[in-house]
Amino acid sequence: MAQVVAESDCGIPAYEYQDINSTVFHVGTLAKLWKERLPADVYSFEEPAEDSSAQHDAVFGAEMALNCETVEEISTLCRLDTLKCYPEGESPDVETIPMDALDSLSSLRIRKTKQDYREQTISKDYLGRHENYVHELESHALGKKSTNPEDNIEEGELVLTVNILYPAIFQVRKRVKPHQTVMILGSQKLTQLRDAICCQSDYQITGEFSNTPDLAPEHISKDHFKSAFFYFDGVFYSDMRFPECRDLSKTIIDWTKSNERGYEKFQTARMENTTFCNLKIKVGYPYLYCHQGDCEHVVIFTDIRLAHRDDCRDKTMYPLLMRKHWVLSRKCFVCKMYIARWVTNQDSFAPADPCFFCDTCFRMLHYDKQGNKLGEFLAFPYVDLGTFN
Ligand SMILES: [Zn+2]
Ligand SMILES: [Zn+2]
Repeated sequence: MAQVVAESDCGIPAYEYQDINSTVFHVGTLAKLWKERLPADVYSFEEPAEDSSAQHDAVFGAEMALNCETVEEISTLCRLDTLKCYPEGESPDVETIPMDALDSLSSLRIRKTKQDYREQTISKDYLGRHENYVHELESHALGKKSTNPEDNIEEGELVLTVNILYPAIFQVRKRVKPHQTVMILGSQKLTQLRDAICCQSDYQITGEFSNTPDLAPEHISKDHFKSAFFYFDGVFYSDMRFPECRDLSKTIIDWTKSNERGYEKFQTARMENTTFCNLKIKVGYPYLYCHQGDCEHVVIFTDIRLAHRDDCRDKTMYPLLMRKHWVLSRKCFVCKMYIARWVTNQDSFAPADPCFFCDTCFRMLHYDKQGNKLGEFLAFPYVDLGTFN
């Protein structure tokens, strides 16, 4: 039985289990071995030839020791089209519960009680919205193909599932679910995963902008500090796509070398030259993504498999977002409707310090029609995590 890792021991959230990560292996070699050993029809995208229904029935009857009439009756009753309770071309009504069915099915009675409770007591249905969203993300790309044949993935392509956790600097979010779960292809570059990770730190704007609010968007951290690295099994993969990128791992490697601290010899490589098939990793093991100097996210590969015909086959849709943690957003203090984009201090117009505003309310309250600053206040751009919901 795997032991739950205490959160205080190593910073790994409690839903990670000890001793369940795999041993280290080379991703590309794993794919090659799979393709050598598996019969091609297992990972082929061709639809399998259906057994004729008579043949299927005969095999089923023999296996279950049933006579022909019973098999025929079962296959008539269990046909796919008998399962549909709404006409072809119409979407099902999942809200109305038929009253006559309440006596016979207790699941419907429970559902009806919950439905009534929601209608009477909850004014904002957060749970429902969240559930819907998760469902949409999971299903929106199933079996999708690109119209351009070159954009479709090839048979035997690897699909890796990756969990990206909240950065370690947010103590408050240490216990929650992974921030993002994405699927990425073995042939894709590490930089493609990097670009798919959304983090508040990338959108921070440092500075006070009460005199020049229009200049704020030009100071997004992402555009100024482009360096980042992944750490996978003894190798630092640095993003060096842009001339201003620095190798952030150099300081760490120099530190490990100094005073013979007893660390293994680390290697370096470039993120933009490395595909996931080039990696050596352990599945289930916490690795690191670091950007903006010290914003550190734990990254865990939870699954590696060959692509299936039902997967999204459009290469351009990968990295494919599968799940995203949904957070409550901080709303504007004035309209209570839009997500806050400004925070003010020492604000003569505000009822609180600090006070949060959306862009429209902030400008209407603090500037005249010509854009001149009114009153005294300090204004800082604010990035809410709810922006990524
Ligand atoms: Zn971050
Ligand atoms: Zn507002």
